[in-house]
Amino acid sequence: MVSIATLGSHCALQVLKGAKDEGFQTVLLCEKKRESLYQRFKFIDEIFLMDSFSELVEDRCQSMLEKSNSVLIPHGTLIAQMNSEQIESIKTPVFGNKHILRWESDRALKDKLMKAANLNVPKSITSPKQINSLVIAKRHGAAGGKGYFLASTEEEYNKKRDHLVKQGLINDDNDLYIQEYSSGVLAYLQFFYSPINNELEFFGVDKRHESDIDGLARIPAENQLASDKISSFNVIANSPLVLRESLLDNVYKMGENFVEASSKLVPPGMNGPFCIEGVYDEEAHFHTFEFSARIVAGTNIFMTGSPYTALIYDEPMSMGRRIAREIKQAETENKLKNILT
Ligand code: AMP
Repeated sequence: MVSIATLGSHCALQVLKGAKDEGFQTVLLCEKKRESLYQRFKFIDEIFLMDSFSELVEDRCQSMLEKSNSVLIPHGTLIAQMNSEQIESIKTPVFGNKHILRWESDRALKDKLMKAANLNVPKSITSPKQINSLVIAKRHGAAGGKGYFLASTEEEYNKKRDHLVKQGLINDDNDLYIQEYSSGVLAYLQFFYSPINNELEFFGVDKRHESDIDGLARIPAENQLASDKISSFNVIANSPLVLRESLLDNVYKMGENFVEASSKLVPPGMNGPFCIEGVYDEEAHFHTFEFSARIVAGTNIFMTGSPYTALIYDEPMSMGRRIAREIKQAETENKLKNILT
């Protein structure tokens, strides 16, 4: 039987607890500074210590993973810490499609896939000179919203960009992607697609609490005007949402379109967990500004299941456990190659 391994951060606790619930051996790749945290949890069978996550591609780690017959579950930390070439060079079998992670990290590819999936994507602005309405400037990769900022004019953009350069967060304009700002209710739609059962499951919705853009609403306008602080969108926490039931049909359509477009553009497609991220406007139309092509940390809210998993499963079902169950089914049916890359 295979073991389930992941990096010690992001949603590792959920993933390994879910793996243990499904009867797997669990392996945590852990930076030394976090060892004492993860030692608290009995469902982690093996803690493999490293100085930095980049050691994942080194022989010492790869041969341990091979010996334990591990499947690696990718999450946001893997994308934040390694580039696409490094991720694609991982010899350990990766759950889902490791090639689609490149499409998550690269803004141009990301836009292409979202448009191919017929998602309604806010317009991207190719040069700061074209800024003539409220825009959001975002860093590439899985930056978690850190260093993102809003601007209404080129001048404001330049000032805030220079501030980020000074902070050492970016080098220049090339490190930023500018997009029209969409206003409304933010929602992060979590899905799981099983290529074995050819079935899309809607798993839950969350919203993010981002610092300190969320703090702005607590400050009266006159004090906001007097401050020259630049707000960021650094994700601190997530909380659950349920959608109006009339919105669900379109949620499934968006998910299915995304799965279909991915299978054409990035074989073997969008297998496993993913998230479509955006804003419901005043007409309840969804504007998609992002996707994550792997488990998102927002699923940590639903360690014992969500209102939507309760409709599909008669037992507590987290996304971590759902991943483990897919691996178990694939192993039993001799279809592991269908769900790993
Ligand atoms: P992202 O890295 O694209 O997920 O963005 C991080 C955060 O920035 C999101 O959670 C939103 O709060 C905000 N954001 C990103 N793009 C947009 C957009 N086009 N309109 C409004 N808010 C956005």
